[in-house]
Amino acid sequence: MSLLIVGSVALDTVETPFGRVQDALGGSAVYISVCASYFTAPVRLVGVVGGDFAKEHISFLESRHVDLDVLQTVEGGKTFRWGGKYHYDLNVRDTLFTSLNVFEKFDPKIPEAYRVSGYVCLGNIDPTLQLQVLGQLNKPRLVVGDTMNYWIETKPNELFKTMKHMDVLIINDSEARLLTQEPNLIKAAKQIIGMGPQAVIIKKGEHGAMLVTSDTIFSAPAFPLENIFDPTGAGDSFAGGFIGWLARTEDLSPDNLKRAVIYGSTLASFCVEKFSVDGLRDLSYLKIHDRFRSFMELSRFDEK
Ligand code: AMP
Repeated sequence: MSLLIVGSVALDTVETPFGRVQDALGGSAVYISVCASYFTAPVRLVGVVGGDFAKEHISFLESRHVDLDVLQTVEGGKTFRWGGKYHYDLNVRDTLFTSLNVFEKFDPKIPEAYRVSGYVCLGNIDPTLQLQVLGQLNKPRLVVGDTMNYWIETKPNELFKTMKHMDVLIINDSEARLLTQEPNLIKAAKQIIGMGPQAVIIKKGEHGAMLVTSDTIFSAPAFPLENIFDPTGAGDSFAGGFIGWLARTEDLSPDNLKRAVIYGSTLASFCVEKFSVDGLRDLSYLKIHDRFRSFMELSRFDEK
């Protein structure tokens, strides 16, 4: 089933205790598209880059069969850039800079043929742009949205407006608290459900993720890894695995949402094992499925 993804396409400068990369391929739409591409087709990326965006990045996305027909290139413009630094506790990161560049004047136009997109993922990007894309679509079957502290702090009203159109909001723990001013995550999730989405997924970094609907709570661990090099993009990879699985199976039942959470966590676990998108370059559906099965063993136990 077709999947449309809007979000940032970025050049990231990231420092962790284990290394540093400069102007590496990143951005919410990139991580989401690459992860979803292992599950479904077509995956269409709506975004913008500057003339400085390397051809090799385009070739990589094309090699993953990501449809780039609506990726705009502003010749003479600069690609969105983000810089972040992680400390020994990899759950905590400092944003060093956010340079919107070509995103400042981005005016996403969805061609007629792409307006019927069953599944839509609004990656982390200005909520006004998220809404602008949604407004051009023909009743999608599922809208999954993501956001981050930057937008909660700078554009809360625009975000509240966009959230009314989301079926699922994916957000991390500190962002959920910031958005609702509620310290308890279950109460925060329920408050978010009152704002529009029918389901909320709260990501808790190395402590896993929690899916909350009006009548269920499902808690999934993160895959225990000995080597985590760069957590950048873990949340977006989660979103890509989550919506990719749902678009592949076209099943929105509560049980399948739980499976989608585990596929999301699986993709996030591959992402953090290397810098930038390197952990996602050489996956296969089989490799992903293998780790998905290991997830099932993680917390399976007998009553006696
Ligand atoms: P995550 O680690 O999943 O939260 O996502 C990290 C990605 O989000 C990086 O590749 C950044 O380029 C991108 N990013 C960071 N800040 C923003 C922002 N304000 N708007 C859109 N994308 C962003």
